[in-house]
Amino acid sequence: MTVEGSAARGGCMCGAIRYEASGDPISVIFCHCESCRKHSGSPVSALAGFHRSQLRFTRGERATYESSPGITRGFCGDCGTTLTWEGNDDELGPLVEIHIGTADEPGNLAPQMHLHHAERVPWFETSDSLPRYREWEDS
Ligand SMILES: [Zn+2]
Ligand SMILES: [Zn+2]
Repeated sequence: MTVEGSAARGGCMCGAIRYEASGDPISVIFCHCESCRKHSGSPVSALAGFHRSQLRFTRGERATYESSPGITRGFCGDCGTTLTWEGNDDELGPLVEIHIGTADEPGNLAPQMHLHHAERVPWFETSDSLPRYREWEDS
């Protein structure tokens, strides 16, 4: 895959971990779930989801933590930067979502929806008109 036109390139704060995604993300979301909140230390996370085959780690080995059965969270073991959510979707197969704050150009990755909106921190609200789902897209 060519680097030109890559949908997302990025890495952690210290530079030990670098990744590169090819093609467009499957989805870009705000996630308000408690697990993302704990993992990121942020009241809301913004994530760009790719099929595992679209994403390549070009430098370093991310550390991982299994946050629930079958779900791992990636981060840099050196600087602690929150990097990924990784799991399996029944239909789409292995997925990796990157926290878009780690992308070199997060401006290219605009969220399309809010997920787990029911779990949001009560004082968090934005003025965007994106759809808000209690959990997933059908809720
Ligand atoms: Zn790092
Ligand atoms: Zn989440």
